[in-house]
Amino acid sequence: MERRPSAPGFVRWVTRTLEDAGYETWAVGGAVRNTLLGLPSGDWDLATRAPPAVVRRLFPRTVPVGIAHGTVGVLTREGVLLEVTTFRRDVETFGRHAVVEFADTLLEDLSRRDFTVNAVAWHPVREEFQDPFGGRADLAAGLLRAVGVASRRFSEDYLRVLRGLRFSGRFGLRIERDTWEALCRATTHLGALSPERVREELMKILSEDVRPSGALALYGISGALEVLYPELAAVRGLQRRGTGEDLWVRSLLTADLLPAHRPSLRLTALLQNLGHTTQDGVPVEGGATWGEGAPGAGVNARTRDRAAGLMIRLRFSNAEVREVAGVLEAGAEPLPAESAPAELRRWLHRVGPERFPASARLWIAGARLDRLRHEGDPAPVVKVLRRLRGELRKSPPLRTEDLAVNGRDLVAMGLKPGPRFGKILASLMEEVLEDPTLNRREQLLEAVERWLEEEG
Ligand code: ATP
Ligand code: MG
Repeated sequence: MERRPSAPGFVRWVTRTLEDAGYETWAVGGAVRNTLLGLPSGDWDLATRAPPAVVRRLFPRTVPVGIAHGTVGVLTREGVLLEVTTFRRDVETFGRHAVVEFADTLLEDLSRRDFTVNAVAWHPVREEFQDPFGGRADLAAGLLRAVGVASRRFSEDYLRVLRGLRFSGRFGLRIERDTWEALCRATTHLGALSPERVREELMKILSEDVRPSGALALYGISGALEVLYPELAAVRGLQRRGTGEDLWVRSLLTADLLPAHRPSLRLTALLQNLGHTTQDGVPVEGGATWGEGAPGAGVNARTRDRAAGLMIRLRFSNAEVREVAGVLEAGAEPLPAESAPAELRRWLHRVGPERFPASARLWIAGARLDRLRHEGDPAPVVKVLRRLRGELRKSPPLRTEDLAVNGRDLVAMGLKPGPRFGKILASLMEEVLEDPTLNRREQLLEAVERWLEEEG
């Protein structure tokens, strides 16, 4: 039996107000689709015959959120901003942007929507459907189908390719055959999309899907991955040392095991195996995955650099790039085998205490994945991480900045800035990591003086 949507009171209030003024109004888009699937509605969107100026006049508080596209935000008493968009039709399309004009009928408005499941209108007051493209039947059959001629719809706006993969992955909808064939052909044009739109699509998958592997695996199968993320496409088929597991699949499944509210961590998991090929795409020896360390092979440095390159291309912020690259770099340090406190501190120093929390989550996700594959026991990993966390909680000096002396002190002792500085500070760091109680100014300055005397 089909689920009936049920809209909150403010959606009915806005609909009623518009209709009382003589303008037909419907709920459309994602909220209708989601409630039919039995999922939380997300934001409700209304489509109306009323022009934007009328919408603004009819409600006490409105915000011109997208006036050029006919969208007015109506602020309700509940403090919700409900988007009300005037019926539209496309008059011109360029594969990226559409020039729209206002339309008279709901049918025109529904015709320009991307997929049948997104083109179902529901009346929040009369509780009836307008479903000219059979979106409800497709939902019931678990199908994602383009509205109209699929190839034309994709060439009007290539973002629909990525939206299709996302909806299919998220809701477990099979892509109908004509739609699928047109979608795969259209992937060659994805380079025309702006980096920002590509990034937003990726981040929607990572921040909203229960299992991002669904949509991302479809990126791989459709050809979208090759065009948009060639460095990720190159990971497919590479084998992990020892287990032989496919490193692309491992990246995807690790992302699944991390929470949706930490999308940058999921992104880190996705990018964790980028460094396993040479510049020319030849697989490198080793096959160590993130956190296993791959001494000498340069895998971790390459992974970090390629991930940063990918993120810069997609116009991520510098802070986001630094965060992901830092955690990827931490993967070069396998977890410490010994649990002597000094050993733990030296390890935390190498990894960087600020990178520890995110790295720990990645270690746990990796260990859980191994257990799911019957290839390991997460207990020892959890134990080491707990010890490391315990050590971290004591706030010992772990970074050169934590030392009780700094470069200025060395200058005051008559030393000239130079490489020697770094060496001296590093030796002090070593001593302090061994014994944190040594981190006192007097004591460290004495140690420096002793060295200077010994050196003559
Ligand atoms: P979600 O918000 O969960 O990603 P949604 O379906 O609400 O899903 P939105 O991007 O919020 O997606 O867009 C709302 C509606 O607008 C869609 O359901 C669809 O009908 C229409 N739409 C959005 N983007 C496009 C597009 N590029 N081409 C055609 N129709 C679109
Ligand atoms: Mg939406």
